Amino acid sequence: MPTPPPTSAGSGPPQPRTASPTTGALARCDRHRERFAEWLCAHCGKGWCDECGLVTRAVSSKVQLVQCPACRDRCVASPRRERRVQREQKANHDRLSIPWAIGEGAKRPFAGGYEIFVWLGIGFLYAVGSASAMYAGTMSIILRLLPVPFMLRIVRHAARGEKGFPEPGDVTDWMWDLIIPALAFVAGCWLVALPAGLYAALRPGPIADVASDPIFWLLFGVGLFYLPAVIVTTAMTDSVGAALNPGFAVRLLARVRGDYLVLLVGAFVMSAGSGLVARLVPAPISYLWPWLDVYLVLATMSVYGNVLYRRRGQLGIEV
Ligand SMILES: [Zn+2]
Ligand SMILES: [Zn+2]
Repeated sequence: MPTPPPTSAGSGPPQPRTASPTTGALARCDRHRERFAEWLCAHCGKGWCDECGLVTRAVSSKVQLVQCPACRDRCVASPRRERRVQREQKANHDRLSIPWAIGEGAKRPFAGGYEIFVWLGIGFLYAVGSASAMYAGTMSIILRLLPVPFMLRIVRHAARGEKGFPEPGDVTDWMWDLIIPALAFVAGCWLVALPAGLYAALRPGPIADVASDPIFWLLFGVGLFYLPAVIVTTAMTDSVGAALNPGFAVRLLARVRGDYLVLLVGAFVMSAGSGLVARLVPAPISYLWPWLDVYLVLATMSVYGNVLYRRRGQLGIEV
């Protein structure tokens, strides 16, 4: 906003003090000489600090109408204030950028003290689950599903702009707090695999040939594209019906737009990342894959929450 120097306005001589652009930055409050002016009167040119300028209408700290206490004319923000507001806006924008969402998400499992124990604890469940997979497949599935509601809750927690992980202690109704979210998530994942699975089952010829069938992979890709929507829906609503409703996915895509790519990459990293690493690193280190697996899930859930927080305006998430 420019700071027009005052010109003689109708009756009465204008005050000698003027707010020219060169002195504007150094202008001081007319009553508090030790303070720099936040506002400059467009008529008499006097400078005012925040305390002295008369706020007539305030939309926010940045958008407000301020009246000159001396001549009651409208004030404009001083160049100094303008620059500060611009700096604040830029910092705010950087803070909610995609690099912020990813970087902060990667760090979240290390935040504070108790987060790291959540990570190690769930990793232990996964390790036990994979060890028991040889003789008890059901046990392995249960141990892997047990932390799912908590992981989904990380999305909701981060989407509200809160730090660290949510408190684990508020499970009041194990049916609604644990079973339903886990089932909703499983149902959603089934939906992701459904088109490719149906195609594989119904197509003629031996089932082994499906790996070289481009239509199978196309359907698989379409399903995978839907995975972030399933995760977000289950995290935000705990509803089986909502996770199965493609309308939600379309709405989500329309509102987060390009950020959906980040969610997609996250879904891929989460589902394939630890498997790839386990294949690349030698044996003693690769035994740690359950903890890597859990870290990737926890970090991805944090990134999901951060992306939702970043887009909370479009998504209508109350903070
Ligand atoms: Zn004035
Ligand atoms: Zn003042």
